[in-house]
Amino acid sequence: MPRLDKGLVEVYTGNGKGKTTAAFGLALRAAGHGLKVLIVQFMKGWEGYGEVEACKKIENIEVVRFGTPEFVNPASPKPIDIEEARRALEYAREAVLSGKYDIVVLDEVNVALHFKLIELGDILDLIEKKPSHVELVLTGRYAPPELVKAADLVTVMEEVKHPFRQGVVSRRGIDY
Ligand code: ATP
Ligand code: MG
Repeated sequence: MPRLDKGLVEVYTGNGKGKTTAAFGLALRAAGHGLKVLIVQFMKGWEGYGEVEACKKIENIEVVRFGTPEFVNPASPKPIDIEEARRALEYAREAVLSGKYDIVVLDEVNVALHFKLIELGDILDLIEKKPSHVELVLTGRYAPPELVKAADLVTVMEEVKHPFRQGVVSRRGIDY
């Protein structure tokens, strides 16, 4: 089985578009080399994502979603939101530590941290304990400075323009 010589920690954050799609793009590239990829999604209980459907057709990429179909209210998250985020973290943790995957993506984990659904210490602990061949990719707006510090690669997507500002609603095949 092919492996990475050394797995690093990547963070895709910022307010501009392209974080989740960058992570799926990376997954696609890695799968082409026979690497095994797991994508664990936080706060994504909704069924309609094109990228999730596409991955069902691709060998070597597994996507596991957690959360409810509704938006999380950051001011008062529901108990189910917290439960789902903790389940996602536990699933990701076991998968990372198992060493079975070459790349593990925690999609929107930064937002789950920002909303205080999970604790930063648990993510830092996972970074510390991950097997050295595993690449860990953390996406979502609001990556905390501690994560930026712990990561090897950090990209901040900057919103220069987004059609949302012109009233263009979320588009099928482009935004989901
Ligand atoms: P994508 O999934 O397209 O890569 P993303 O992961 O960077 O985007 P998120 O912050 O997770 O974006 O936001 C999720 C949704 O919001 C996506 O449908 C995305 O297209 C859209 N979006 C991203 N950036 C902006 C923005 N600056 N203004 C409005 N909507 C945005
Ligand atoms: Mg995203």
